[in-house]
Amino acid sequence: MIYLKSPAEITKIRAACRIIGELFEELGTMIHAGVNTWELDRFAESFILAKGGKPAFKGYRVPGLKPFPGTLCTSPNSVIVHGIPSKKVILNEGDIIGIDVGVIKDGYYGDAARTYAVGQISEEACALMEATHEALMIGIAAAVPGARVGDISHAIGSHIAAKGYFPADDLTGHGVGRELHEEPQIPNSGRAGYGPRLEAGMTLAIEPMVNIGTNRVKEKGWEFMVADGSLSAHFEHSILLTNAGSEILTNA
Ligand code: MG
Repeated sequence: MIYLKSPAEITKIRAACRIIGELFEELGTMIHAGVNTWELDRFAESFILAKGGKPAFKGYRVPGLKPFPGTLCTSPNSVIVHGIPSKKVILNEGDIIGIDVGVIKDGYYGDAARTYAVGQISEEACALMEATHEALMIGIAAAVPGARVGDISHAIGSHIAAKGYFPADDLTGHGVGRELHEEPQIPNSGRAGYGPRLEAGMTLAIEPMVNIGTNRVKEKGWEFMVADGSLSAHFEHSILLTNAGSEILTNA
């Protein structure tokens, strides 16, 4: 079931998403060598609560794992997604760090992610981040009423392949709004012209997760890592489909 949101619901989703956009601006000023990911997590939780929201990932359950303990997912270097914030994970000059956050406000959800550079990063890391962000924007441009989910997947996947990178296996975007994860799944590669038809009023989280060396992933508890230890980047926005196209909701 893919939910079309009412104008009243969209207002609430918009408010949850705005908190995330603002939070990312603040986090951007805190990313420095020597900072640990637990500090980032504490800041994020206080920020979200002060804005009248609640962390949506904290306490999230999947079978076989303890409830997710963080407000943020903090995923450095070869960690693709779902890294757990920790005092032991200290940012180093030259790292890249993916930060993913969900917020619930008045019963409605937003979800977004960014990858940040810690100080000066390698050209290789910089190119990966740039291509991943481009893949997100190209995917968003393909998300218009009348198109299909496969058009988004194809647009993202083609860009990733053209750059010589790999979308992480089994990790997809999704509908968002009434729940953190709704239908449809939005894979980061696929066939144009296939999948559910897109309509105005849908709210979607589009999120390319892009690896340098291989599409293969390995799991350790919550964390997904690139199987060959190469770098991975992740950018995500929650968007609203409108009759005019699409609108990014998770900007500041
Ligand atoms: Mg998501």
